[in-house]
Amino acid sequence: MKTDYLDKFAGTLIGVSIGDTLGHPFEGMIRERIYSRFNDFKEFIRSNKKLFKTYTDDTQLTLHTAEALIQGSGFNTNNFIREYIKWLEDPPIGPGFGCISSIQKLKYGISWEKAASNSGGNGTAMRVSPIGLFYCKDIKSLEKSALKSSIITHSHPAASAGAIVIARAIAFLIDKKLETVFSIDEFFETIILSISNSRERIWEEFIVILNKVKQNLNLSIEAGLIKFSQVGVKSPYFIEEYLGKAFVHPYTLSTVACAIFVFLKNLNSFEDCIFQLATAGGDSDTVGAIGGSLAGAYFGLKNIPDDLINIVKNHKNILKVSEQLHLKFKEKYKII
Ligand SMILES: [Mg+2]
Repeated sequence: MKTDYLDKFAGTLIGVSIGDTLGHPFEGMIRERIYSRFNDFKEFIRSNKKLFKTYTDDTQLTLHTAEALIQGSGFNTNNFIREYIKWLEDPPIGPGFGCISSIQKLKYGISWEKAASNSGGNGTAMRVSPIGLFYCKDIKSLEKSALKSSIITHSHPAASAGAIVIARAIAFLIDKKLETVFSIDEFFETIILSISNSRERIWEEFIVILNKVKQNLNLSIEAGLIKFSQVGVKSPYFIEEYLGKAFVHPYTLSTVACAIFVFLKNLNSFEDCIFQLATAGGDSDTVGAIGGSLAGAYFGLKNIPDDLINIVKNHKNILKVSEQLHLKFKEKYKII
């Protein structure tokens, strides 16, 4: 059976927005405390709808990335900068320092080379999924565009490594079908290859971390999150108070490692997967958004329950953006 690309495009963008919306109320909480609030997360959502009334910067910037790709039928630096400046008027919800500080500089006409912040935060991996979708048939352009889209706001190599790996993972997952189990070895080989041969120390460090994630998939979710919550973080950036706890650090290497770990532990149901992602602890909305992009690319829109789609603010607009991006992809790559 042929891949239903529109279903996968829409699943990915909606996946980001559901993970972001569900994770938002838990941002900055340890996992243990989140789980002390309910026995059944589904029931908790139903009786606390007001808590889940919006998504945050992760979804906002993902939509601006998609718009920039639609305008240029692919990556174009000026379109990306223009769209990210537009985000300042949304206005940003829960923005990270790396994004807001660099984009404000871009707004005042400072070149991206000078405006980019040296942040290794999640601002680029969380917004990259449309690049993974649009370039899923053109991996060289995917890697190049993911890198370029990252360095215009974040000069830190952790941010670009995370963005490339997530975009590449999405392109890998888009062609996978639920009926046939995909190879975990092939998944890791593919994403690791995307950041190999760079001689960039932090990219090499990320490869070691990704291999550790692969070797530890037998751990429980709680134990895995404790192990990877602050992986790659260096002094003085540790959150010492949360060492040994499930509290995902807002550093790209740790957040992407945790999102991949939780996603791979939940390949049977989108709902279980997104619930675990959004309650990871620490930077929960971003683990939800990044992991949600992977889950959405794998499960597709048709396997996402309607009540989860309906919880997302402006979900009809997100579906419209997915359709427009899909149309440009079809035109460019002559997909029938
Ligand atoms: Mg956020």
